[in-house]
Amino acid sequence: MSATAQEIEPHQLFDTILTLDFGSQYTHLITRRLRELNVYSEMLPCTQKLADLTWKPAGVILSGGPYSVYEDGAPHVDPAYFELGVPILGICYGMQEIAYRSNATNVIAGTAREYGHADLQAKKVDGFVDRLFEGLEGNMKVWMSHGDKLAKLPEDFHVIASTQNSEYAAIAHQTKDIYCLQFHPEVTHTINGVQLLKNFAVGICKAQQNWTMAKFVDQEIARIRALVGETGQVLGAVSGGVDSTVAAKLMKEAIGDRFHAVLVNNGVMRLNECEQVQKTLTEHLGINLIVADASKLFLDGLKGITDPELKRKFIGGTFIDVFEAEAKKIEDAAANSPKAGKINFFLQGTLYPDVIESISFKGPSATIKTHHNVGGLPKRMTEGQGLKLIEPLRELFKDEVRDLGRQLGIAHDLVMRHPFPGPGIAIRVLGEVTPERVEMARKADHIFISMIREAGLYDKIGQAFAALDPSRAVGVMGDKRVYENIVLLRAVETTDFMTCNPFPFEHEFLVRVSTRIVNEVQGVCRVAYDYTSKPPGTIELE
Ligand code: GLN
Repeated sequence: MSATAQEIEPHQLFDTILTLDFGSQYTHLITRRLRELNVYSEMLPCTQKLADLTWKPAGVILSGGPYSVYEDGAPHVDPAYFELGVPILGICYGMQEIAYRSNATNVIAGTAREYGHADLQAKKVDGFVDRLFEGLEGNMKVWMSHGDKLAKLPEDFHVIASTQNSEYAAIAHQTKDIYCLQFHPEVTHTINGVQLLKNFAVGICKAQQNWTMAKFVDQEIARIRALVGETGQVLGAVSGGVDSTVAAKLMKEAIGDRFHAVLVNNGVMRLNECEQVQKTLTEHLGINLIVADASKLFLDGLKGITDPELKRKFIGGTFIDVFEAEAKKIEDAAANSPKAGKINFFLQGTLYPDVIESISFKGPSATIKTHHNVGGLPKRMTEGQGLKLIEPLRELFKDEVRDLGRQLGIAHDLVMRHPFPGPGIAIRVLGEVTPERVEMARKADHIFISMIREAGLYDKIGQAFAALDPSRAVGVMGDKRVYENIVLLRAVETTDFMTCNPFPFEHEFLVRVSTRIVNEVQGVCRVAYDYTSKPPGTIELE
């Protein structure tokens, strides 16, 4: 959302540290760590001109990056930031950029590249370390990842910490608040890196540590009210997942029944899910909800499709058609209701990682799978229907959304729910999707998830589900030969869903799950557990 006269965005209310992204794979971690310290932080691409920034940051961090500052086409920061009068911290590439700006001969390709741990020692002057290293006296384990290095100290800078290999591991300007680090304080391999970021943000930039969800809720509700106005109406799709539920509840709090939620039953939701979601959203959360039952349309259309991408595309496209038809009905009703006006906004549960993905300096990564949750819906609603997009979770990371859900009184089980893909069980029934096969996958999944919950493991697992393999296997059941289906169980541990490891269940637990599935799900005679990590696997199977 771009700022309008009425709208107040978080960076206008909270002291904000701006991180300029030079394309490092760790840049978003800088923002994360600062927010964990309750300091608000936003990331923008390194090409961001200061003149185009509508707000003033409390400090600026220049991130790492894959380029060499001295090569043709390497990105450079707008020099205006150095005149802004706020503290600046350069990390790795950011450090090299600051040194290069001072003199192009300051940075050279190193003879020994340095990847991994190094022991850092903050330098004491008159018995004190620099305030960037306050509380970090003594040996500090830091993590390096660079090939270039400073050939000499930039003019007016002095060394504030060194390692065995890097004399200039940390340097600072003698009179201005400009600091440079060769290592990465944002990665967990740098022990106490968070303290260092805190020293910069809180100690040096004087940013207040007041970024809390309680504050965000009030501020966000006010922002939505100002944006939507007295009579505006908002339309949004809900799935029962964390993001859409939290976004819907926030809209409900802000504008009541002028927010219209639509739940599309695509026939490939989990066991009893449609009914449960309906109940939770209406009875517990009081959301104005319409359920469109299109299960037959989806299941009929899925007949004969075996290719995963085609399944995703069919489901995405049909979803938009159904949603649009419902929207039309709501629109007509809203226009005729005395208190209502025209629908003019479309709610979208975009999260900050999506924003980061789209603005990060390397550009969006190659498409591995068509994104399952949004597809072309926002485009059709905004461009086709002339609706404006409203994205209240746009500044938040996933765990912040969960926090927000708790603030809004949403039940723990819902707030901690594992992600569920838009195409649902259709991409967990590998190969052709038939109602019978969906039913088998659904029942097996229900058994697996219930047992995980009973064992108290649900919140320790990032995502878990049962899928149905397209091939069959021979078994012997009740002394009779059977030739039946194979269920695949998948459960992963992950923090960010970018990488994951298989969850280490106890052998006995998996045996119990397997026994129950084979006994209770008609048509299944085998159960297997997927031990693949990501990469090379993905979390879902299709
Ligand atoms: N590309 C630069 C180097 O190799 C900076 C690396 C980084 O920022 N991690 O030195």
